[in-house]
Amino acid sequence: MSPDWLSVRGETIERLQALIRFDTTNPPGNELPLARYLEKALTGEGIETQLLVPAQNRAAVIARIRGDGSKRPVILLAHMDVVGVERANWSTDPFGGEVKDGFLYGRGAIDDKGMLAANLMTMLLLQRELKRNAGKLRRDVVFIATSDEEAGGDWGMGWLVEKHPDLLDAEFALNEGGRTRIIAGDRTYLAVQSAEKISHVVKVAATGPAGHAAVPLRGNAIFTLARALEKLSRHEEPLCLTDITTGFFSRLAAIWPEASERRAMEDLVSGVPLRMESGARILSQTAVFNAVIRNGISPVMLEGGIRHNVIPASVAALLNVRTLPGQPLDAAIARMEHTVGDPAVTFEVIERGIEAPASNPQSAMFEAIEDATRAIDPAIAVVPYLSTGVTDSARLRRLGVQAYGVLPFPMNQSDEERMHGHDERVPLHSLEFGTRLIYEAVLRVAS
Ligand SMILES: [Zn+2]
Repeated sequence: MSPDWLSVRGETIERLQALIRFDTTNPPGNELPLARYLEKALTGEGIETQLLVPAQNRAAVIARIRGDGSKRPVILLAHMDVVGVERANWSTDPFGGEVKDGFLYGRGAIDDKGMLAANLMTMLLLQRELKRNAGKLRRDVVFIATSDEEAGGDWGMGWLVEKHPDLLDAEFALNEGGRTRIIAGDRTYLAVQSAEKISHVVKVAATGPAGHAAVPLRGNAIFTLARALEKLSRHEEPLCLTDITTGFFSRLAAIWPEASERRAMEDLVSGVPLRMESGARILSQTAVFNAVIRNGISPVMLEGGIRHNVIPASVAALLNVRTLPGQPLDAAIARMEHTVGDPAVTFEVIERGIEAPASNPQSAMFEAIEDATRAIDPAIAVVPYLSTGVTDSARLRRLGVQAYGVLPFPMNQSDEERMHGHDERVPLHSLEFGTRLIYEAVLRVAS
């Protein structure tokens, strides 16, 4: 059941180029032509495939390689839509799929057509290998390509969950949302997203006396709001470690090149309160680490004022509040109220995110990813990961599917930052690595 990876290298590149050449910028998406391409590729290989049309020119593709049913299915999920481009800032045609200097360029090369190509290749290769060996898997492998992820997923995973939950019946899923990061010293870690923060919108409003701007008033609502925001800028939510973040830092410490951060990671997971606090203090200086060890509060919008000569009676700021799993939003708001300590300032929940359970970082799927990684490159550390971003995996986890986020293409930070940016590209050898990783992991969990 092991394909000749050298001989499929060209096909993988061609498939990704073909996917990129469909302009699926969302809005409007227009994923249907790409969906037809997938349908043709899958059915051409004899794979059972369904094409669903949730709205005009939108689509979902569900393909299935049947196992013997002794274990529950595993889903390979990717979205077909991409975010927009500012063409003037690209050195290549963003929808051309050009190969240059060892990279494949194009909008979606990383997010998420690279994974879509790897998933597609996994299906095609599994089908070919099963045929060649007259083999049978123990669980169904279900390929799902969705629309509309970049605009909230109402016509994508949201629609599937609502209209076709039966198609999502599975024990495990692989989706986007992780990282395969090359760090200093050429060390690499593969972060498997097993849980995510929950995103909420909270309005903090200040009130005061209204009046003519010609007569300055004490208690001007704008000053009151500014004071409240100043206090919130120094407010820190309490340190909170979950199983996932503990696993993340303890395994990352084993390969982390920078000595003081490595010690801080060891301290953080030591279980000794004083060491934990000191480790947290050091790691908190790095924004991305700070964001995974406590709830986060980011002011994102200001509302208020009507004229340049009128003192408004009320003004407000919108906060994007991201809570860790199991951390109630209302408790976080109570702490913010306490920090602000001003009766003229009130907090109101505008949008409350929905909690999703974490996926088990010791499951057969997680182990299959670890084994597959070891088989390809034993030097790579596999770490569980809690993402600060929100993905479709939360919807699957709420259905009881243990979903894991991977971005199976080894990249340094600067290439990864091209995601949603200019000159998005994937290194060709990473594309090959990622395809192989998905295939090997799925084969292991389904055999
Ligand atoms: Zn994406």
